[in-house]
Amino acid sequence: MATVQIELPSPAPGTRRMLRVHRYGPPGARPKAYFQAALHADEIPGLLVAQHLLLGLQQAQAEGRISGEVVVVPVANPIGLGQHLNGRLLGRFDFESTGNFNRGFPDLAAVAAERLRGCLSADPAKNIATVRETLRAVLAEQQAIRETSALKLALLSLAVDADYVFDLHCDSESLLHLYTSRWHSDEGRVLGAELGAAVILLEEEPGGNPFDEACAGPWWKLRAALEHEAPIPLACFATTVELRGQADVRDDDAAADAAALLRFLQRRGVIAGEPGPLPESHCEPTPLNGVDVLTAPAAGVLVYRKQLGEAVAAGEVVAEVVDLFGEPLGAARHPIRAATDGLLFARMTERLARPGQKFCKVAGREPLAYRQAGRLLED
Ligand SMILES: [Zn+2]
Repeated sequence: MATVQIELPSPAPGTRRMLRVHRYGPPGARPKAYFQAALHADEIPGLLVAQHLLLGLQQAQAEGRISGEVVVVPVANPIGLGQHLNGRLLGRFDFESTGNFNRGFPDLAAVAAERLRGCLSADPAKNIATVRETLRAVLAEQQAIRETSALKLALLSLAVDADYVFDLHCDSESLLHLYTSRWHSDEGRVLGAELGAAVILLEEEPGGNPFDEACAGPWWKLRAALEHEAPIPLACFATTVELRGQADVRDDDAAADAAALLRFLQRRGVIAGEPGPLPESHCEPTPLNGVDVLTAPAAGVLVYRKQLGEAVAAGEVVAEVVDLFGEPLGAARHPIRAATDGLLFARMTERLARPGQKFCKVAGREPLAYRQAGRLLED
C-alpha cells in the first residue's frame, strides 16, 4: 500500500489543505476500483465506511489477495469539512460560491472525441486503453486556480481511468440507494443486491455533471460520437452510493457496507476470494425521471403522513404543510400528494418548509412528465 498527499492551493495565508490517497495492489493493475467519501462534506456515513474499507483492504493485502488496483480517498472534501456556520457543518455548497461540490466536474468527452478521431482500431480492448490515455491527457491539461476547482481536478484525475468508481454520499433521512447510468443497470443490480439497496436509480442525462457522470459519461458520449469509426465499450461503471441518512453513522452498518463493497470487488476480480452467493435483491432498478420529488407549495410546518420505506399510491397524501397563520385557525393545512405509485425512500430532516422546497422522494417505475432531462438532480 502506498499513501500520497496531494496539496491543494492555499486559500489564505497560513492555511493549506490536502487530500490523502491510499493505493493498494500493483500500480496500473486491472481492474481498477476507486472510492471517495463525503464529497458533500456534511454526509458523514461515507467517512466511516471508508475507514472500514481501509481495514478490509489492509487485510486483503496482507493475504496477498489484491490482484487489481484499489484507490481510496477517505476524505474527499477537506474544504467542505471546514465550513461551519453558527455551530453547524454545511458541506454541500462551497462557501467560496463555486456552487454544489458535486456538480460542474469537467466534461472531457468533446475534446477527447476530436483527438480520438482516426486513432481507434477494430479492437475494443485496445480502444479502451487509448480512450483512457486520451482522457488522462485531456484532464492533465486543465488548469485550476481556485482551491475547489483544484480539488475537483485532483479527484477526477484519480478516478477517470478506473473500471469501477464509488462515490460515497448520503441523503437527509433515507434508505440506502444507488444512482448509476441506465447503461449499467446490470452492474447496479448486482451492487444493489450486495448492499441491500432499497432503490436503484438509473440516470440518463441527469444534468449538472456530477462526479459519477464525469467518470462514466465520457464512455457513452464517445461511443455515440465515434460509433461509425470504432467499437468503444462502456469501460467505467460509476455509482453514487447514498448510505442512508445523515445521522445514520453506526459501526455495524458501516462494517456491513464496506464488506458488501469488497465482495463486489471480488465478483469483479479486483480482489481474489470467494464472495459467496449474491444476496437476493430488494428492488428492481427504476428510472431517475420516475422519482416524484414532492415540493412544498407554501411555508409552514411539515408533517409527514408516510414513513420512510412505506409504499405510497398516486394521489395519496404523503405529508401536510401546516399554514401557521391560515384559516380556519389551527386547522389550515396543505395536503401534498404523490404523483406516482412507489416507495418513499428519502425525506428532508428539517420540519419547516419554504415555498418551492423539495422535501421528499418517491421512487416510481414509470417516467414522470414533469421531470426534465438535464435537470434531474436537486441542487
Ligand atoms: Zn451527497
